[in-house]
Amino acid sequence: MAVWSLIGVFVLSLLILSFLSFALVSLREKERRAAVRGGLVSVALGLGLAALFAVPPGIRDPVMIALLGCITLISLWVAASARPRGRLIVRDPPERVDERDIIFARFDLQEGTPRFAEYYARRPQYQEMDAEIRKLPDILSSSHRTKAPALSALADAEFEWLEHQLVTVDGPVRPRREPWSAKTNTRLVKETVRYLGADLCGVCEMESAFIYSHVGRGPELYGKQIELDHSFAIVFAVQMDFSMIAAAPQAPVIVETAKQYLAAARIAAVTAGMIRRLGFPARAHMAGSNYAALVPPLAWKAGLGEMGRIGFLLTEKYGPRVRLGLITTDLPLVPDRPIVFGVQDFCVRCRKCALNCPSRAIPEGERAYDNGVLRWVIDREACYRYWRKVGTDCSRCIFVCPYSKPDTSLHKAVRWAATRSSASQYLAAKADDLFYGRRPRPHVPPFSG
Ligand code: SF4
Ligand code: SF4
Repeated sequence: MAVWSLIGVFVLSLLILSFLSFALVSLREKERRAAVRGGLVSVALGLGLAALFAVPPGIRDPVMIALLGCITLISLWVAASARPRGRLIVRDPPERVDERDIIFARFDLQEGTPRFAEYYARRPQYQEMDAEIRKLPDILSSSHRTKAPALSALADAEFEWLEHQLVTVDGPVRPRREPWSAKTNTRLVKETVRYLGADLCGVCEMESAFIYSHVGRGPELYGKQIELDHSFAIVFAVQMDFSMIAAAPQAPVIVETAKQYLAAARIAAVTAGMIRRLGFPARAHMAGSNYAALVPPLAWKAGLGEMGRIGFLLTEKYGPRVRLGLITTDLPLVPDRPIVFGVQDFCVRCRKCALNCPSRAIPEGERAYDNGVLRWVIDREACYRYWRKVGTDCSRCIFVCPYSKPDTSLHKAVRWAATRSSASQYLAAKADDLFYGRRPRPHVPPFSG
């Protein structure tokens, strides 16, 4: 057998093994379509290889040379294509957001109360739209509970527990300060946060533009001006279980969301408590009604990920399949920097979240300037309206995002390649559609109550 044919056999055998492994991994991940397609590709390649053995060398050798030529060209194209470099563009310093304007604060307002009347007199632009949404049953309300009574009860209990944790967010600071360096402090808090269960952690200098201007939720005085003069933000992420998110938009997603909010609350409260015992002010910020600042932009600044089309932060390891936690403090720390791993470019060609969003809340087109930042602007009202229709926090966009795939060797390798070359991004987006589907079906959850 000619040397070209021997190399061809070797390369084809590698491809067959790769697609076979892909099919087996997909089976374990309950990705039936990917498993079937991966298996079919490996069988087709196996049959092709067998056929090449059946033909005379005069036909086999040119076919092998053509095959190797194609593989070499594709490899060269991938290696030589430019590294994706798109960055988040901040044109003007963003203005502070009033927490009273965020959608959850608006829907906390009780009809017929003076606060309700005062708010909509001040913000008449929301009145009609919010009145329409109010006609729908609330998330986890009794009319939704009938679909998944046990899971709804569980999510409700999780959120109730979260509200009880608010007393732990702040407390007295020990007078004696530990004299450790910023470097030591940074290592200590990152190790602590990870030890307590966080998957990612970063640090940034506090940015006043990302602090809410006025209280809109929680036990603090409604409408009070927020003063938070901490110097640093410690931002962390806990990943959500892919198999629960893959059931989107059904009840398992809200159970998983609440579970990870609890985890983030525990990590933030305990770490803030530790920092106060080291002699420095520290405040935990908890999901539900307790954030004094916008967490996604702080997470971006602390190097946890990039902002994507989906409107959330995409982390390099888990994509948007995370919940974020925040501690603000005066403990001297060494800040991290924002990272770039190609999300802005990938999102331009992917658009899968927009295509799969049942409320069409995610834009399919270009980015636009919003509060000084060039980004994809989500229609939050349309998204929330859908949440009330289905009774959960939907999360279909998180499930379908290619970056959300489990952090296994296979997906790590794809993400690694997509970070380094535009051609890899193109191939990864096409392969994701081919193997997982442009409109992936929800999975059967491991836990259905
Ligand atoms: S959560 Fe659902 S409705 Fe909201 S943006 Fe994502 S896919 Fe759309
Ligand atoms: S689904 Fe695609 S377009 Fe949407 S955030 Fe994820 S990578 Fe970006």
